Amino acid sequence: MKKLLQVSNLHAGVENKEILKGLNLEINPGEIHVIMGPNGTGKSTLSSVIMGDPSYTVTKGTISYNEKDLLEMSVDERAREGVFLAMQYPSELSGVNNLQFLKTAINAKREENDPIKLLDFYKQITKTKEKLKMKEDYAERFVNVGFSGGEKKRNEIFQMILLEPKLIILDEIDSGLDIDAIKIVGENIMEYYMEHKEETGIIIITHYPRLLEYIKPDFVHIIKEGVIVKTGDASLAMHLEETGYDEI
Ligand code: ADP
Ligand code: MG
Repeated sequence: MKKLLQVSNLHAGVENKEILKGLNLEINPGEIHVIMGPNGTGKSTLSSVIMGDPSYTVTKGTISYNEKDLLEMSVDERAREGVFLAMQYPSELSGVNNLQFLKTAINAKREENDPIKLLDFYKQITKTKEKLKMKEDYAERFVNVGFSGGEKKRNEIFQMILLEPKLIILDEIDSGLDIDAIKIVGENIMEYYMEHKEETGIIIITHYPRLLEYIKPDFVHIIKEGVIVKTGDASLAMHLEETGYDEI
């Protein structure tokens, strides 16, 4: 079986500052990995580097995705090939409504002469809107503009469901969510996973075991100062809740 993602000895940072200092991570299709760790240890940087954010420079190490050199691929190519990042702080796109945004993103992944049929597209929008309990005017509103924190996070999951990615990185998707929203987000991530697990792997960055009531991870990793210092199963997340990071 092909590895979905292989990060080997990754060193990356900004300008003169090294943030990731020899990080290793391997993900097979069908696996859910949780990454936890204190603030400022490089979790979002890892996500950004995998997605191809040009503000970060990789100085050493490799990342392969389905056995291709990910670092050689542009951000667009990565997205087309199924890499998806729900950012910790989702951007607002003033002037672009959710419908236009989603249609463009879906068609960018399809062959040029085979855009999605409008009827299928609207059906998916209606279904997903209900699942995620988005407001009635969701489709017409500008992407994330004036959305509450929780609506922005649910919108990331909306995009995920419609874009059908294969490597999913969810950076603090549960931060700022009330308990009902965590349930909606958690259940929808799990439903997507169950329907796509043969070819899909998920990385969930979180501080809270609450989300893990809905999502059952295969591995939990603790990152500290730019490297993974410990890997365990779901019980590690529960254990941390009691001990904090100091013991690691
Ligand atoms: P985490 O997501 O684990 O909280 P980050 O990856 O966001 O941590 O950040 C790790 C460290 O790198 C922090 O000290 C942060 O201030 C720094 N950092 C991240 N991105 C940048 C950037 N674009 N410019 C300068 N410093 C950055
Ligand atoms: Mg972060």
